[in-house]
Amino acid sequence: MSAINELSGVNDLGVKAHILGFPRIGAQRELKFALEKFWRGEISEAKLAQTGQTLRRRHWDWQAAAGLDFVTVGDFAWYDQILNTAALLGAIPPRFGFDAQTLSLPQYFELARGNTEQFAMEMTKYFDTNYHYLVPELSRQTRFDGGVQWLFDDIADALAQGHQAKVVLPGPLTFLWLSKCKQDGYSKLELIPAIVAAYTRVIGRLASLGVAHLQLDEPILALSLPAEWVSAFEPVYRTLAGAGVPILLATYFDSVAEHAQLLADLPLAGVHIDAVRAPEQLAQFADVWAAQKTPKILSVGIIDGRNIWAADLEQALEQLQAVHASLGAALWIAPSCSLLHTPVDLEQETKEAQLDSELKSWLAFAKQKLAELSILKQALNGQDVSAELATNQAAQHARRTSQRIHNPAVAARLANLDGQIDQRLAPFATRQAAQHARFNLPVLPTTTIGSFPQTKEIRAARAAFKRGEISVEQYEAAMKAEIALVVQKQDALGIDVPVHGEAERNDMVEYFGEQLAGFAFTQFGWVQSYGSRCVKPPILFGDVSRNKPMTVAWSSYAQSLTTKPMKGMLTGPVTILQWSFVRDDQPRSTTCDQIALAIRDEVCDLESAGIGIIQIDEPAFREGLPLKQADWASYLAWAGRAFRISASGVANDTQIHTHMCYSEFNDILPAIAAMDADVITIETSRSDMELLEAFGHFSYPNEIGPGVYDIHSPRVPQVNEMLRLIAKALEVVPAERLWINPDCGLKTRGWPETEAALANMLTATHAARAAIAQGQSIAIDAARVLTPAHTGSCACN
Ligand code: GLN
Ligand code: ZN
Repeated sequence: MSAINELSGVNDLGVKAHILGFPRIGAQRELKFALEKFWRGEISEAKLAQTGQTLRRRHWDWQAAAGLDFVTVGDFAWYDQILNTAALLGAIPPRFGFDAQTLSLPQYFELARGNTEQFAMEMTKYFDTNYHYLVPELSRQTRFDGGVQWLFDDIADALAQGHQAKVVLPGPLTFLWLSKCKQDGYSKLELIPAIVAAYTRVIGRLASLGVAHLQLDEPILALSLPAEWVSAFEPVYRTLAGAGVPILLATYFDSVAEHAQLLADLPLAGVHIDAVRAPEQLAQFADVWAAQKTPKILSVGIIDGRNIWAADLEQALEQLQAVHASLGAALWIAPSCSLLHTPVDLEQETKEAQLDSELKSWLAFAKQKLAELSILKQALNGQDVSAELATNQAAQHARRTSQRIHNPAVAARLANLDGQIDQRLAPFATRQAAQHARFNLPVLPTTTIGSFPQTKEIRAARAAFKRGEISVEQYEAAMKAEIALVVQKQDALGIDVPVHGEAERNDMVEYFGEQLAGFAFTQFGWVQSYGSRCVKPPILFGDVSRNKPMTVAWSSYAQSLTTKPMKGMLTGPVTILQWSFVRDDQPRSTTCDQIALAIRDEVCDLESAGIGIIQIDEPAFREGLPLKQADWASYLAWAGRAFRISASGVANDTQIHTHMCYSEFNDILPAIAAMDADVITIETSRSDMELLEAFGHFSYPNEIGPGVYDIHSPRVPQVNEMLRLIAKALEVVPAERLWINPDCGLKTRGWPETEAALANMLTATHAARAAIAQGQSIAIDAARVLTPAHTGSCACN
């Protein structure tokens, strides 16, 4: 028996249970509030540290109480786990001038949020989730000499609390894959020796602390990974295997079946696979694993870490039993991925009127998933859990047969759709001419993405209304006053296509879900989106339909206050689907079509009310892409069609906008073009218009508004910076098709910086228009231009 296997506990009797990670934000979003207080200077660093420790300890206690065999350490991060790893390894961008050896917590937050001198690190979505990580900036000069002790302190604390600790970190190859490197002409893979040395150093520390297992997350294996990346696994893991701690390599979000033999041959203590997203790989792994000479752990992700439905435990047991029979104690069970993507605790949902007990009995949040895991573990280990299983089966049966889920009218409408339902009346050129004639906007029209600052007063009014403390009339008066203010400020700034500001919306998906049939809402179902920001996804449990207009009154009121064309503002079907917890009892495409029809009804009602420009936001369009390229085409076809269904009920001179942000879009440009929106406003400034070059190469046919400033930072962009981006945009997009706007909505910003930034944006636009009118190129005082961090990335992936 090898040392690795003794250490890994394969010889212990019984199936083990563990989790890949737990949400760190806290059941009451304690971490969010502490972070924001710390950033405002209201609490000390010690107080923030204490909040973090309380949360970590509480979550470990829950794991231990549920009978898991390890608590997971390393899933906590002050802002993001990838940034934490960059800090741990010492891979921080040199442009900040920080010493990785002595990086302080305030400096760490500057990396994440930017400061007066430097742009924040780029942020993007983690695989197909709505979680955003910070993109490490690497170069040949990266020294990987990190000195932060947070992880080691957390481990020492978990051990001191009497727990067995399994540590989790992003694996080196996934970390590298998710990074950006600055110089052209070399492959990121060349950084492997340096990064492996850094991991070896960290693992050595873990060994000396007595860590029993190290889970290294390598979800890139579930992608269609280039061959040179696949072949990097063997040498990397051969080195790391000798570093002193048994390694469990974790994959998730899709099948890694094609790598089963590779994974079996690596010198690992074990491998985790996702049997929820890719149940078909289970049998294959079981076979390959059973053929191993020395036993190796197979951790089976059997509880859905991406959704909130209670597991069908009988069905899960059925799947596990065959594997158990052949692997015995080498079988571990776990959720499919980190529970980061689920809310914390269903037991906090006590408002029957909001989430009734029948619906609750169909659900499981992170803490409840620990209990499910525990039942499965006990069942596999021969303990009597028949009562628990019976309760579970009763709830499963009730959900399958509930009348609350099925609406025959929705089914009938879907079954009888016209073949042209997703086509506009005329091609873009005809529509463009009609729209230009109708709106007569100046060249480089200016607009914003929809929301304006959500002030304390707005949130207080909404909360008071929800609690029944103010009447509908009082609430509406407060919102109308806010709309009036926003419209007046836009008029004063001279914005060509104003918006009403979305003051009445808590969240761009929740707002619509609350008014559509088929959705339920939680009070505390928060999930971290990035940093301190959380979202509370609706639970889409049944057939979707719209009973009455949802936005028309607000948009009409806003239109009554200005002569400019007011832009109506809706969330698109793909984003509503993507940012909800979606039913798992019918294909996602069917659910998406139901939402699309509801949004289409709203678009038509806005048009009838005289709103001639309507934006249908699809920021989540790309994150629905399957991980494997082979599956992209079918997703893009149904998602694009759903968007077009929502957008195509209008006349030629009604202008449909869409908006997308925080993703890489380069690889799906044809699909974006096929959505056939008249105008797309899109995030580009953080990457210095990198994306726009792709739009240029591709010759994107319709109008486009590449964001000219990053709204995720309080920093006010200067006129020249924006002018430089406008000039860059004009190199690839003709002036007649170019719009000027910020990167995204402004709701997270304060008023002073918003007004200052928009005033600068207008000044830049006027300068650009003047240059265009005179047939000159745009003059920029280069000395005053602050260049963003990412001036082009290498083609390393
Ligand atoms: N219209 C939304 C807003 O401005 C868009 C938000 C988003 O793209 N995430 O807030
Ligand atoms: Zn956006």
